[in-house]
Amino acid sequence: MKPRSFDYVRAKSLAEAVVALSRHGADARIIAGGQSLVPLLNMRMASPALLVDIGALAELKGISLAKDWLRIGALTRQAEAERSADVAKHAPLLAKALPHIGHVAIRNRGTIGGSIALADPAAELPACLLALGGEVEIAGAKGARTVKADDFFKDLYETALAPGEVLTAIRVPAHSKSMRVGFSELARRHGDFAMAGLAACRRNGSVRLAFFGVGSTPMRAKKAEAALAKGALEEAVAALDSDLDPPDDIHASGKVKKHLAKTLLRRVATELQ
Ligand SMILES: Cc1cc2nc3c(=O)[nH]c(=O)nc-3n(C[C@H](O)[C@H](O)[C@H](O)COP(=O)(O)OP(=O)(O)OC[C@H]3O[C@@H](n4cnc5c(N)ncnc54)[C@H](O)[C@@H]3O)c2cc1C
Repeated sequence: MKPRSFDYVRAKSLAEAVVALSRHGADARIIAGGQSLVPLLNMRMASPALLVDIGALAELKGISLAKDWLRIGALTRQAEAERSADVAKHAPLLAKALPHIGHVAIRNRGTIGGSIALADPAAELPACLLALGGEVEIAGAKGARTVKADDFFKDLYETALAPGEVLTAIRVPAHSKSMRVGFSELARRHGDFAMAGLAACRRNGSVRLAFFGVGSTPMRAKKAEAALAKGALEEAVAALDSDLDPPDDIHASGKVKKHLAKTLLRRVATELQ
């Protein structure tokens, strides 16, 4: 299929992008790497009147360390982050997760910001951001704001981004000696979206577990976190019965997904020791 016709603006600055977006409200859509949006346009599951291309905005690119945070610009390609020595050193959870996103061709174009903004519930990066207690930087007509990952993912493909806002960067606490991270996912073939996955972080005695592919957003498992923080793995595994209630989907039944989540927790727990 072909997309419905739309107008197209290639923004030369963030300010220009914000103006174009705010003029058209919900009729406008940002395009970054296009890896998710172009198929949606072609299948006519999205039909914006205006596409605002942010691909030329140098201010949204790059990876930098500031104080105790690693900041990754929204337009940073997934492949660039995967190859980054800074990401490997300061955000090893992202380094573990990135190779699981689709295939190399997808990661060469797909952006970090596009993945977080899309908020696919089976995607790796939103879960990593949540597990690390990261933050999202946002710009809009009313100025800039920062939203914690815990408050960013609202519902299925719904985030704290308002129409007209641009996700400009994510930041995650830089890895330290007191941190341990773990990641695992189960997919039918490497590169497929996961049937279930887990991104986890232990820091100063507390644990954050972010499951993906098991709900409408990446899901914290708070009772399991508390049990794991005191070293009670089997109690943590049992707690997933109340922490998670995965719906059936085309990949697996909810029952199977819960079983997979338990298997993932046992695997990932060894990485957190
Ligand atoms: C075959 C295939 C397999 C894939 N497998 C996986 C996988 O296993 N795991 C996974 O996580 N992903 C997977 N993806 C999706 C891929 O990671 C996308 O690159 C990513 O989800 C979107 O990034 P993008 O830069 O391409 O965004 P786009 O497609 O350009 O945009 C996606 C959405 O985000 C919005 N958006 C983009 N950037 C911003 C921004 N800076 N601010 C506000 N809104 C913005 C757009 O308006 C649009 O709604 C796959 C894609 C394909 C085609």
